[in-house]
Amino acid sequence: MAIVLLSGGQDSATALLWALENLPSPIHALTFLYGQRHEIELQSARRIAAHLGVSHAVIDLGQLWDALSVKTALTHEAPLSYTPEGLPTTFVPGRNLIFLTAAAIWGYPRDESDLVIGVSQVDYSGYPDCRAPFIEAAQKTLSEALARPIRIHAPFLYMDKAQLWKYADELGYREFIAEETHTCYLGRREVRHPWGYGCGECPACQLRKAGYEAAFG
Ligand SMILES: [Zn+2]
Repeated sequence: MAIVLLSGGQDSATALLWALENLPSPIHALTFLYGQRHEIELQSARRIAAHLGVSHAVIDLGQLWDALSVKTALTHEAPLSYTPEGLPTTFVPGRNLIFLTAAAIWGYPRDESDLVIGVSQVDYSGYPDCRAPFIEAAQKTLSEALARPIRIHAPFLYMDKAQLWKYADELGYREFIAEETHTCYLGRREVRHPWGYGCGECPACQLRKAGYEAAFG
Protein backbone atom coordinates (compact mmCIF):
# COMPACT_ATOMS: atom_id res chain seq x y z
CA MET A 1 0.00 0.00 0.00
CA ALA A 2 1.51 3.29 -1.01
CA ILE A 3 0.77 6.72 -2.39
CA VAL A 4 2.94 7.82 -5.30
CA LEU A 5 3.31 11.50 -6.14
CA LEU A 6 2.76 11.47 -9.90
CA SER A 7 3.42 14.71 -11.79
CA GLY A 8 3.43 13.10 -15.22
CA GLY A 9 7.19 13.60 -15.61
CA GLN A 10 9.87 10.97 -16.09
CA ASP A 11 10.98 10.79 -12.46
CA SER A 12 7.55 10.38 -10.90
CA ALA A 13 6.41 7.88 -13.54
CA THR A 14 9.55 5.81 -12.91
CA ALA A 15 8.84 6.08 -9.17
CA LEU A 16 5.42 4.61 -9.86
CA LEU A 17 7.07 1.69 -11.68
CA TRP A 18 9.35 1.24 -8.66
CA ALA A 19 6.37 1.22 -6.27
CA LEU A 20 4.55 -1.38 -8.36
CA GLU A 21 7.67 -3.58 -8.25
CA ASN A 22 8.57 -3.11 -4.61
CA LEU A 23 5.53 -2.31 -2.50
CA PRO A 24 2.36 -4.31 -1.88
CA SER A 25 -0.76 -3.25 -3.72
CA PRO A 26 -2.89 -1.22 -3.84
CA ILE A 27 -0.77 1.61 -5.18
CA HIS A 28 -2.44 5.01 -5.52
CA ALA A 29 -1.19 7.87 -7.69
CA LEU A 30 -1.79 11.47 -6.63
CA THR A 31 -1.37 14.46 -8.92
CA PHE A 32 -1.43 18.02 -7.61
CA LEU A 33 -2.60 21.02 -9.54
CA TYR A 34 -1.08 24.28 -8.36
CA GLY A 35 -1.51 26.68 -11.22
CA GLN A 36 1.00 25.09 -13.61
CA ARG A 37 1.06 26.83 -16.96
CA HIS A 38 0.80 23.59 -18.92
CA GLU A 39 -2.05 21.10 -18.80
CA ILE A 40 0.13 18.61 -20.65
CA GLU A 41 1.68 17.06 -17.52
CA LEU A 42 -1.76 16.31 -16.09
CA GLN A 43 -2.75 14.57 -19.31
CA SER A 44 0.45 12.50 -19.08
CA ALA A 45 -0.27 11.61 -15.47
CA ARG A 46 -3.77 10.44 -16.37
CA ARG A 47 -2.49 8.24 -19.22
CA ILE A 48 0.31 6.77 -17.10
CA ALA A 49 -1.99 5.86 -14.20
CA ALA A 50 -4.58 4.37 -16.55
CA HIS A 51 -1.98 2.36 -18.47
CA LEU A 52 -0.44 0.97 -15.27
CA GLY A 53 -3.84 0.25 -13.78
CA VAL A 54 -3.47 2.26 -10.57
CA SER A 55 -6.09 4.46 -8.98
CA HIS A 56 -5.47 8.14 -9.63
CA ALA A 57 -6.66 11.17 -7.72
CA VAL A 58 -6.10 14.75 -8.88
CA ILE A 59 -6.00 17.28 -6.09
CA ASP A 60 -6.39 20.94 -6.89
CA LEU A 61 -4.38 23.20 -4.62
CA GLY A 62 -5.69 26.19 -6.52
CA GLN A 63 -3.38 29.13 -7.06
CA LEU A 64 -1.56 28.44 -3.81
CA TRP A 65 1.81 29.92 -4.72
CA ASP A 66 0.19 32.83 -6.49
CA ALA A 67 -1.81 33.52 -3.34
CA LEU A 68 1.46 33.44 -1.40
CA SER A 69 2.94 36.04 -3.80
CA VAL A 70 5.42 33.61 -5.37
CA LYS A 71 5.91 33.79 -9.11
CA THR A 72 7.84 30.95 -10.76
CA ALA A 73 8.61 29.97 -14.33
CA LEU A 74 6.23 27.02 -13.94
CA THR A 75 3.25 29.13 -12.90
CA HIS A 76 3.91 32.42 -14.72
CA GLU A 77 5.36 33.76 -17.91
CA ALA A 78 8.87 34.14 -16.59
CA PRO A 79 12.25 33.54 -18.20
CA LEU A 80 14.16 30.35 -17.40
CA SER A 81 17.04 31.83 -15.43
CA TYR A 82 18.32 31.99 -11.87
CA THR A 83 17.10 33.74 -8.75
CA PRO A 84 19.48 35.96 -6.73
CA GLU A 85 19.88 32.95 -4.41
CA GLY A 86 21.24 30.92 -7.32
CA LEU A 87 18.20 28.67 -7.77
CA PRO A 88 16.46 28.19 -11.11
CA THR A 89 13.29 30.25 -11.62
CA THR A 90 11.52 26.87 -11.98
CA PHE A 91 12.03 26.34 -8.24
CA VAL A 92 8.65 26.39 -6.47
CA PRO A 93 9.46 27.10 -2.81
CA GLY A 94 8.11 24.49 -0.42
CA ARG A 95 6.48 22.46 -3.18
CA ASN A 96 7.59 19.00 -2.13
CA LEU A 97 6.82 19.75 1.53
CA ILE A 98 3.27 20.84 0.63
CA PHE A 99 2.84 17.81 -1.68
CA LEU A 100 4.10 15.30 0.89
CA THR A 101 1.97 16.89 3.60
CA ALA A 102 -1.13 16.79 1.42
CA ALA A 103 -0.39 13.19 0.39
CA ALA A 104 0.04 12.14 4.03
CA ILE A 105 -3.24 13.84 4.94
CA TRP A 106 -4.98 12.17 2.00
CA GLY A 107 -3.66 8.84 3.25
CA TYR A 108 -4.71 9.45 6.87
CA PRO A 109 -8.37 8.34 6.65
CA ARG A 110 -7.30 5.55 4.29
CA ASP A 111 -4.65 4.14 6.65
CA GLU A 112 -1.96 4.69 4.05
CA SER A 113 1.36 5.78 5.50
CA ASP A 114 3.86 4.98 2.73
CA LEU A 115 4.61 7.87 0.39
CA VAL A 116 6.75 7.57 -2.75
CA ILE A 117 8.46 10.54 -4.38
CA GLY A 118 10.77 10.43 -7.41
CA VAL A 119 13.27 13.09 -6.39
CA SER A 120 17.02 12.87 -7.02
CA GLN A 121 19.77 15.00 -5.58
CA VAL A 122 22.21 13.99 -8.34
CA ASP A 123 22.85 16.16 -11.42
CA TYR A 124 19.71 18.24 -10.85
CA SER A 125 19.15 21.92 -10.41
CA GLY A 126 19.98 22.13 -6.73
CA TYR A 127 16.41 22.20 -5.46
CA PRO A 128 16.75 21.96 -1.67
CA ASP A 129 13.57 19.87 -1.37
CA CYS A 130 15.08 17.11 -3.53
CA ARG A 131 17.83 16.22 -1.06
CA ALA A 132 18.24 13.58 1.62
CA PRO A 133 18.18 15.99 4.62
CA PHE A 134 14.80 17.30 3.48
CA ILE A 135 13.32 13.83 2.92
CA GLU A 136 14.50 12.63 6.34
CA ALA A 137 13.18 15.74 8.08
CA ALA A 138 9.83 15.61 6.26
CA GLN A 139 9.35 11.97 7.26
CA LYS A 140 10.05 12.80 10.90
CA THR A 141 7.83 15.90 10.87
CA LEU A 142 4.87 14.15 9.24
CA SER A 143 5.16 11.20 11.62
CA GLU A 144 5.05 13.61 14.55
CA ALA A 145 2.24 15.69 13.04
CA LEU A 146 -0.01 12.70 12.40
CA ALA A 147 1.15 10.61 15.36
CA ARG A 148 1.75 7.58 13.17
CA PRO A 149 4.84 6.32 11.38
CA ILE A 150 4.96 7.89 7.93
CA ARG A 151 7.52 6.40 5.57
CA ILE A 152 8.81 8.44 2.63
CA HIS A 153 10.39 6.33 -0.10
CA ALA A 154 12.70 8.25 -2.42
CA PRO A 155 14.23 5.35 -4.37
CA PHE A 156 16.10 7.54 -6.85
CA LEU A 157 17.64 9.99 -4.40
CA TYR A 158 21.16 8.92 -5.35
CA MET A 159 20.50 8.06 -9.01
CA ASP A 160 21.17 10.27 -12.02
CA LYS A 161 18.99 10.52 -15.13
CA ALA A 162 20.97 7.86 -17.00
CA GLN A 163 20.41 5.39 -14.15
CA LEU A 164 16.73 6.31 -14.12
CA TRP A 165 16.45 5.53 -17.84
CA LYS A 166 18.29 2.22 -17.33
CA TYR A 167 16.03 1.28 -14.44
CA ALA A 168 12.90 1.79 -16.56
CA ASP A 169 14.54 -0.04 -19.46
CA GLU A 170 15.33 -3.08 -17.29
CA LEU A 171 11.65 -3.27 -16.38
CA GLY A 172 10.73 -3.11 -20.07
CA TYR A 173 9.40 0.43 -19.87
CA ARG A 174 11.94 2.51 -21.82
CA GLU A 175 9.56 3.27 -24.66
CA PHE A 176 6.66 3.81 -22.28
CA ILE A 177 8.62 6.44 -20.34
CA ALA A 178 9.79 8.12 -23.54
CA GLU A 179 6.35 8.21 -25.09
CA GLU A 180 4.06 8.91 -22.15
CA THR A 181 5.94 11.11 -19.70
CA HIS A 182 6.42 14.84 -20.08
CA THR A 183 9.32 16.91 -18.80
CA CYS A 184 9.72 19.98 -21.05
CA TYR A 185 9.39 23.28 -19.17
CA LEU A 186 7.91 24.90 -22.27
CA GLY A 187 5.16 22.28 -22.59
CA ARG A 188 6.21 21.41 -26.16
CA ARG A 189 5.07 18.10 -27.66
CA GLU A 190 5.31 18.61 -31.41
CA VAL A 191 8.54 16.71 -31.98
CA ARG A 192 9.24 13.13 -30.84
CA HIS A 193 12.89 12.47 -30.07
CA PRO A 194 14.26 9.06 -29.01
CA TRP A 195 14.06 10.34 -25.41
CA GLY A 196 10.53 11.65 -25.79
CA TYR A 197 8.75 14.89 -26.60
CA GLY A 198 10.01 18.37 -25.87
CA CYS A 199 11.73 21.49 -27.13
CA GLY A 200 15.14 19.85 -26.68
CA GLU A 201 16.62 23.11 -25.42
CA CYS A 202 15.21 23.91 -21.98
CA PRO A 203 17.12 22.64 -18.92
CA ALA A 204 14.60 19.83 -18.32
CA CYS A 205 14.84 18.60 -21.92
CA GLN A 206 18.63 18.82 -21.89
CA LEU A 207 18.87 16.76 -18.70
CA ARG A 208 16.44 14.15 -20.00
CA LYS A 209 18.19 13.92 -23.36
CA ALA A 210 21.71 13.76 -21.86
CA GLY A 211 20.57 10.99 -19.49
CA TYR A 212 19.07 9.00 -22.33
CA GLU A 213 22.21 9.32 -24.43
CA ALA A 214 24.46 8.40 -21.50
CA ALA A 215 22.31 5.33 -20.82
CA PHE A 216 21.87 4.01 -24.36
CA GLY A 217 24.50 5.82 -26.49
ZN1 LIG B 1 11.97 21.63 -23.22
